[in-house]
Amino acid sequence: MDTPAHPLFGTPPGGPDSPEGPPKCSAKSCRDLAAWSLRWNNPKLHTPDRRKTWLACDAHRDSLSQFLAVRGFLKETEPFSGPVPE
Ligand SMILES: [Zn+2]
Repeated sequence: MDTPAHPLFGTPPGGPDSPEGPPKCSAKSCRDLAAWSLRWNNPKLHTPDRRKTWLACDAHRDSLSQFLAVRGFLKETEPFSGPVPE
């Protein structure tokens, strides 16, 4: 047993840095594999060229991107196909 149990919230908002296992959807209580990468920026916290990444499965892409979009944070939505860039 060298892999600690993951909490349900596998990827915390704003800081997906899970060294263990494949990247998963950032939605609370969702454990599906990530299919989409939501790139966002909070201008109160980040410089304009900074990007944070949330990952989403197909089912949660709309709700997560909506959450970011209504706050004006969402910058890009891209298909996710590789390691988390940061
Ligand atoms: Zn999901």
